[in-house]
Amino acid sequence: PNTDSIDAAGADRNASLFARAQRVIPGGVNSPVRAFRAVGGTPRFVARAQGPYFWDANGQRYIDYIGSWGPMILGHGHPAVLEAVQKAARDGFSFGAPTEREIELAEEILAHLPSMEMLRLVSSGTEAGMSALRLARGATGRSKILKFEGCYHGHADALLVKAGSGLATFGNPTSAGVPPEVVQHTLVLPYNDVAQLEQAFAEHGKELACVILEPIAGNMNFVRASIPFMRRCRELCTQYGALLIIDEVMTGFRVALGGAQSLYAQAIPGFAPDLTVLGKVIGGGMPLAAFGGKRAVMEQLAPLGPVYQAGTLSGNPVATACGLATLREIAKPGFYDALAQRTRSLVEGLEAAAARHGVPFAADCEGGMFGFFLLPELPQNYQQVMHSDGARFNRLFHGLLDRGVYIAPALYEAGFVSAAHSEDDIAQTLAAAEAVFASLR
Ligand code: PLP
Repeated sequence: PNTDSIDAAGADRNASLFARAQRVIPGGVNSPVRAFRAVGGTPRFVARAQGPYFWDANGQRYIDYIGSWGPMILGHGHPAVLEAVQKAARDGFSFGAPTEREIELAEEILAHLPSMEMLRLVSSGTEAGMSALRLARGATGRSKILKFEGCYHGHADALLVKAGSGLATFGNPTSAGVPPEVVQHTLVLPYNDVAQLEQAFAEHGKELACVILEPIAGNMNFVRASIPFMRRCRELCTQYGALLIIDEVMTGFRVALGGAQSLYAQAIPGFAPDLTVLGKVIGGGMPLAAFGGKRAVMEQLAPLGPVYQAGTLSGNPVATACGLATLREIAKPGFYDALAQRTRSLVEGLEAAAARHGVPFAADCEGGMFGFFLLPELPQNYQQVMHSDGARFNRLFHGLLDRGVYIAPALYEAGFVSAAHSEDDIAQTLAAAEAVFASLR
């Protein structure tokens, strides 16, 4: 344990750091979910991390199932990645001029995602989603966009929208500061509802620039787009001349080397999105994201075309080194089989433990991503996800946390297993879960 960080009086350093943080940072955090508002209690301030673990400011160790919300697919501090980052940093932090490594990273990503012929690198998933949207509008000359309730695509104004009342309505902002006029072109539908999708296209299809969706909605914990739903999204976009944007910020290189789109392509012959949004794993923990697709669409971007998009730190040399080293590790043969097997053993163990204690529980996983619900069966949309038992989830969360297992502090967030999680880590997690489920009965 990191005993250096336990202060002399043995006081709770997480609590004192949280108090200090709240004086200078709104809510004490730089991204809201970190504040533990949904589950209550004191956020853990991370002192350091290694492999599948991090240590908080008290020196307490946790098995980490968040992994920075997805990027840390190799675990923390993987030696090959660390070496690449250190070497890149020695050569310079940022140039604002092109580098060979940007090409290498682009080539590496494109090699695994055949739907993409070109991409552009940016610094966050929000930026990638926002830019993909502008590109779709610029390329089609249309303004309206369609998104689904419960899918998160970053915090660009036009995407911070919830469904209005009634069927197939244009949405309402989910944040103050987003004027209603800015979201008047954003249509919001329930996820996995083919009938409403068809109705929306019948009414607005010729005005739609794009449909954007998470293929496995990790921002609803874990809800898969059904095959018929994904198929209809593709068919209707093609029929009406709208672009299909798959947001693989979370699922890209996480559920499979070819992303979630490779799984849908197995089930739907010829399936491919027009644009893909990537983030998280492609940066290996550094600020890096991308969007890309067909050459003809991507060539609409400046400096070739009329759609403006730019970034001081885009393609940052240290971030690209981190991403490239990460992708080279995960492209090794057998990587995803081993990761998926480890993740499945966690999920199956949790299911069995919940069943032994009579706790309603439904779980799913793909590659290194998993989700579970304190519900008798897997939900298909946001309304069903919201039926989860929040109070019970909070007891589960804190029970695990007290036993050194760190899962997402909110019931609508997915979980992540890394290649560094060992069978022993899974066994320790399941032992903790067994004890907590017994207390939830
Ligand atoms: N899209 C999806 C599917 C995400 O899960 C996220 C972040 O969690 C984003 C976009 C936004 O990415 P970022 O937080 O890097 O801005």
